[in-house]
Amino acid sequence: MALIVQKFGGTSVGDINRILAVAQRVIQEKNQGNQVVVVVSAMSGETNRLIKLAHQIAHPPDGHAERMAYSREMDMLLSTGERTTTALLAIALQAQNTASCSFTGRQVGIITDETHMNARINKITAERLKEALDKGIVPVVAGFQGINRASDVTTLGRGGSDLTAVALAAVLAADRCDIYTDVDGVYTADPNIVPTARKLTKISYEEMLEMASLGSKVLQHRSVQFAMKYQVPVCVRSSFTNNGGTLVTKEDAEMEHEVVSGVTCDKNQAKLTLVGVPDRPGIAAKIFSAIAEEKIVIDMIIQNIGQNGLTDLSFTLPTENAEHAQRALLNLTSETGVEEIKLTKNIAKVSIVGGGMRSHYGTAAKMFTTLASEGINIIMISTSEIKISCVVDAKYAELAVQVLHEAFDLGNLPTGGS
Ligand code: ADP
Ligand code: ASP
Ligand code: MG
Repeated sequence: MALIVQKFGGTSVGDINRILAVAQRVIQEKNQGNQVVVVVSAMSGETNRLIKLAHQIAHPPDGHAERMAYSREMDMLLSTGERTTTALLAIALQAQNTASCSFTGRQVGIITDETHMNARINKITAERLKEALDKGIVPVVAGFQGINRASDVTTLGRGGSDLTAVALAAVLAADRCDIYTDVDGVYTADPNIVPTARKLTKISYEEMLEMASLGSKVLQHRSVQFAMKYQVPVCVRSSFTNNGGTLVTKEDAEMEHEVVSGVTCDKNQAKLTLVGVPDRPGIAAKIFSAIAEEKIVIDMIIQNIGQNGLTDLSFTLPTENAEHAQRALLNLTSETGVEEIKLTKNIAKVSIVGGGMRSHYGTAAKMFTTLASEGINIIMISTSEIKISCVVDAKYAELAVQVLHEAFDLGNLPTGGS
């Protein structure tokens, strides 16, 4: 008997008929003699709807204490989306003579740190889950939520139900974590942008982590980090078809043949440019310490060569943090002496990812040539061992993904790989 964690995303539980279909999948897995733990997201669009409701009253305030208080209420609000679907699915299972019980994050002992809206999991007790499994009851757990030391509800960042599922699979030593979604696996690019994208049968944790961090929302990046750390075998598959999915697993020799495995794009990016930054020790430290204090994660940083004691500095960050970061830096101008802070929102980060890049030359040149041949200007560049990212004007994002996919011939099976 295997223990399987099944996670169903927003579209998969988007209405009552879909919830009934999910119940069938759960029963099917159970009828094969397996133990099943189910994790669900809120109905698609629900989390966004709840955020919009709150924003109709007030946007997140700037002050630290006020922001904390606001975020606490946001977590109270957002966690309701997943509560609804757990109860509905448990009712659907019971109606089909399958013993089932819904649980909140708190009830299964998902203990997090204090960071509202992007909490990290510290510990999972999972006692009630084990009890339910022992009694042959199918537990249905609300994804995306936990509880902090003060017993306040926290949430795990957007897409966080994936993390709930992988973390539960790790704690329960599950045989597999199946992520059911609206596509039947991980593709060489978002199949909604590139119709010729090819489904990967396998992808390494490392490559998947880069793809997820660079905008492939098919898996939340923190869930991939967790899966990699605890070696949880994750399978991405469709709620709507029975096609085989994509296994996210340890790298093997076969995978290494592929120089580029995927192209991603992240439109949720903004750029802050600081003009007239005094070119002396300690200024960059001041600037980035102020950003860190606001708990804002930044990505690419470019500093130009200084002239007349001044330089320019640009960095990228998630769009939702851009104004907040800009205000924090404006408050600091008397200390830093920065002349101007410009915000650019309409940018996108387009990336190519592949384990084989480590040992191949010419990949960057091919990427830049491909973008140039379409007249797409590169605003910023960053690289790691297994990825190259370019910031481009947002209006070229889809085109850039399509031409790069074509240039690296990702629609066809690589020679020598799988
Ligand atoms: P869920 O609600 O099930 O969590 P998401 O919307 O978070 O689903 O993730 C699934 C979506 O991820 C797909 O509809 C697809 O548009 C997008 N996606 C982005 N990149 C990829 C990729 N490389 N392979 C497959 N899907 C991708
Ligand atoms: N409902 C949450 C979100 O939309 C979590 C999830 O779907 O994974 O971000
Ligand atoms: Mg998701």
